[in-house]
Amino acid sequence: MPSQLNKQGKFVVPGEKIGVIEEFLPGPGIYVDGGDLRAANVGFLLLNLAERKMSVFRPTRLKGAACTPRPGSIVIGETVSTQLTYCLIRIWMVGPRHLPGFFTGLLHISNVGLRVKNMFNVARPGDVVRARVISTKNRIRHLSIANKKLGVIYAFCSQCGELLRARPDKKLVCDACGSIELRKLASDYGRALL
Ligand SMILES: [Zn+2]
Repeated sequence: MPSQLNKQGKFVVPGEKIGVIEEFLPGPGIYVDGGDLRAANVGFLLLNLAERKMSVFRPTRLKGAACTPRPGSIVIGETVSTQLTYCLIRIWMVGPRHLPGFFTGLLHISNVGLRVKNMFNVARPGDVVRARVISTKNRIRHLSIANKKLGVIYAFCSQCGELLRARPDKKLVCDACGSIELRKLASDYGRALL
């Protein structure tokens, strides 16, 4: 039991085993696989001890300027949209601090730090990204990943949704369906402690 309690608030990724059916009931964001409870989406783990229920919490949008990070802040969030020249990132963490909700940042192709044709090989929806805030001009939080420690830290297969594994050549492979994909990876891809 203490092992489960220690996981409260932990960042989880889809498919991650977070408990067993004998100990907790599956709540929102959890699915049952055999006797295991697994996360159905990225988010933070919540335990309801009264109902003995586990769920995965997805932060909601923050209002106002209370959460606006300063230029220079390192942030972590989930890619929600990828277009030819930019991505929108839903930011959950500023530095080591989990936000009570999220705000949206803009990552433009000119701030990737690599010469790329479009953003589809940089970050795709669902990917978790670490970025630096470079400007909050006109109330838009402009992000940069032009540093080897910045970029995608967890990516998911476009075909089947599984967590992708980084090969030594920096390409990402899906162990479930064999798909090979590219992203702009952070140097600690797949090993990041959030
Ligand atoms: Zn796949």
